[in-house]
Amino acid sequence: MKKEKSSNQIKKRAYLIFAVFLLALTLFFITYEVLLTNKEKRKNDYLQNSSENTEDSQYVINEEDGITYIDGTIIVNKSYSLPSSYVPENIVIINNYVKIVDYVKEAFEKLAADALSLGLNIYPSSGYRSYADQEKIYNNYIMQDGIEKADTYSARAGYSEHQTGLVIDVNTVDMTFDNTPESNWLKNNCYRYGFIIRYPEGKEDITGYMYEPWHIRYVGPSLAKTLYNNGNWLTIEEYYQITSKYK
Ligand SMILES: [Zn+2]
Repeated sequence: MKKEKSSNQIKKRAYLIFAVFLLALTLFFITYEVLLTNKEKRKNDYLQNSSENTEDSQYVINEEDGITYIDGTIIVNKSYSLPSSYVPENIVIINNYVKIVDYVKEAFEKLAADALSLGLNIYPSSGYRSYADQEKIYNNYIMQDGIEKADTYSARAGYSEHQTGLVIDVNTVDMTFDNTPESNWLKNNCYRYGFIIRYPEGKEDITGYMYEPWHIRYVGPSLAKTLYNNGNWLTIEEYYQITSKYK
């Protein structure tokens, strides 16, 4: 009798232990499932947020003292102007009368020397122009051709990239330069020295200017290589997704 009672007690205890074990197992799986779902949700939230951040940070347009920068690149076109008082630092003279910023002179001299070693003569014709210079030039063109036409090839005062001191117009500064050996070499090699063809052919509606094979702008070798785009020139406007339109 005593033996029977104790065997019943053992059975009861075994059921109890089994029940507790099942309960623990169930709780474990529920907790595991909840944790996993939360982790997945956090991961998705993170991915969503980070992709939004990349889009925003890639094209942050900074304005300091009326000067617009994107990724450290100064932006001047028909939408983004310079203050009339803006004069770049460290302007030097090249080719007796052309003014440009010192590090642009250095880059251009390398470009010109390498071109010369191939028998090509690339020389600077125009560089930095002040707000007042540009005002005179633009007003003369208006008198000559009217505003609508003048706007396709000449910038209004404050809207000229030449005011940055980072731009050089080379050689004849007209379409007789196009398709010369010098122009063809410049188009395919200027990026190696940090320059871009600023107003490429076929991009007139994007840049707001006619094709200018002679107008090169210094942006540094890294951005220049990206914009060179294996010979299919991209514009600053396309790359940074900005407009070039007078208000
Ligand atoms: Zn120019």
